Amino acid sequence: MEQRLKSISKERYTWHNATSNVQVTPLRFFYPANAKDIADIVHDAEQRGLRVKAVGSGHSFSEAAAGKDYLLSMKKMGNVTLTPKSALKENHRQKHLVSIEAGIILKVLNEKLDALGLALPNMGAVDFQTVSGALLTGTHGTGMHQPAFPDMVRSMKLVGTGGELLQIEPTDGMTDPAAHQQQSSLKLIQDDTIFHSTVLSFGAMGILYEITMEMKPSFWLKEKRYIRPWKELREDLLNGKFMDLVENTDFVAFRVNPYPVKGVHTCAIVEQRIVSEAEKPKGFFALRRNIISDIFGNIEYLIESTIRQMNRNPVNAGKTINRALNATKDISFFGKSFQVLYQSGLAVIRHGISSEFAFDAGGAKIVEVLEHIFAQADTNAENGKLYQTAHVPVRFVPPSKAFLSSAYKRKTMYIDVPLLHNTIGDFEILERYQEMMISLGGVPHWGKVNNKLYERNDFVKSQFKDWKLWSDVRKKLDPKGTFLNDFVVKMGLI
Ligand SMILES: Cc1cc2nc3c(=O)[nH]c(=O)nc-3n(C[C@H](O)[C@H](O)[C@H](O)COP(=O)(O)OP(=O)(O)OC[C@H]3O[C@@H](n4cnc5c(N)ncnc54)[C@H](O)[C@@H]3O)c2cc1C
Repeated sequence: MEQRLKSISKERYTWHNATSNVQVTPLRFFYPANAKDIADIVHDAEQRGLRVKAVGSGHSFSEAAAGKDYLLSMKKMGNVTLTPKSALKENHRQKHLVSIEAGIILKVLNEKLDALGLALPNMGAVDFQTVSGALLTGTHGTGMHQPAFPDMVRSMKLVGTGGELLQIEPTDGMTDPAAHQQQSSLKLIQDDTIFHSTVLSFGAMGILYEITMEMKPSFWLKEKRYIRPWKELREDLLNGKFMDLVENTDFVAFRVNPYPVKGVHTCAIVEQRIVSEAEKPKGFFALRRNIISDIFGNIEYLIESTIRQMNRNPVNAGKTINRALNATKDISFFGKSFQVLYQSGLAVIRHGISSEFAFDAGGAKIVEVLEHIFAQADTNAENGKLYQTAHVPVRFVPPSKAFLSSAYKRKTMYIDVPLLHNTIGDFEILERYQEMMISLGGVPHWGKVNNKLYERNDFVKSQFKDWKLWSDVRKKLDPKGTFLNDFVVKMGLI
């Protein structure tokens, strides 16, 4: 092995994901600093018949990031630049295109974009993921008209088999092929099928080193969070009022307590509307999220003590969840988009774990699924002495073009079942929910706990109608299987 490759790698270094439920000790763990390093790693691996995989922040609870041979951390690659216009087609020059190196974490990306007067159109509830990790498992936020990560991408640069540098775009992509030929040595592929496969592929088609995404000019959001009893919300879900709110509000989500307290399942609604900076409300508190929920989410000790408390006295789970939901009430919080879209606390990094499921968006379906969750929570308590330790969030996402997106070509709602990791029966509860949600047609999120899909390859294939196109593209781009990994095989996507 070349000296440079030795100097940027460690032999048999043990990597684990953030929650430590996935751990691997690959042959070599690399820290590439540029595309050439990655190309050399791929060359070296292919000469030895080894596989290559990259990791982001390790915030997937699933095995999506595990790799046994050569594993690459992308953390040294974090530059952000406005995309040069010289090779762009005329009709793309006015867009807010930004080229982002794959290893940057979203928190830093948000700061850099803000300095450029730009912002991500949407993001998930946290910002610890890398941009490539978030993209490659289909990370979403909420908002029926706000794209998930794969649908913000306009162009991707990858190191493919043989160490070849590829630039992949949709058929009518942003780059002018003639200008590209004069200015770049990368192989330009403009093809919808290849693009919509690669954009959500768990790194199974090559190592992504730069992504061009379309941003929005910086924007401000006003958020309110309020409490409603399930009975009322249920009625509005069935009569269409709530889905109208979802359609007509920029970002909406809600959270439900799976346990009734005094006969009532408490729901907390979050509405976020785009407003101009001039509408900024007066006063210190309007510019801060509810201080209690802020503190609770960020102090590890408080979460750890809740875990201890829940393990000692799990039957109180419903009351504890109610207290947490009530503590998040907020009449108004105003801030920059990324400050408001960030919904969680730092403490969830190590202590949160979940399975999340996608369904066709619709009020009646939400009622059906949530009432199954309530019944399952009762069954878990009665026949397993198992109690879940968090509320159930419901979010909304527009149709996606990515073949392996669980929102592929349909308006989608995501129903999440988060838990505090290391509470009694954590993974057993998630297995029970996976079985139940799959039986209702719920498609598990690639980045969340989804091991039940390993036994249900038939379900995977039936839910992702164009999985075969994806699989064919994978084989075409990766004929030697260099980027293949156990996750793809176990999911039956080969
Ligand atoms: C607390 C918490 C909250 C979350 N909230 C949300 C949410 O609101 N919405 C949502 O949809 N998801 C959410 N998730 C899931 C999370 O966004 C995804 O699992 C995401 O993939 C994690 O990104 P990462 O950078 O940690 O990537 P990793 O988990 O490290 O990797 C993800 C995948 O990308 C591949 N990969 C990463 N970088 C590269 C690269 N450069 N080239 C090739 N392959 C690469 C990996 O091999 C792996 O297959 C949450 C997770 C946590 C822990």
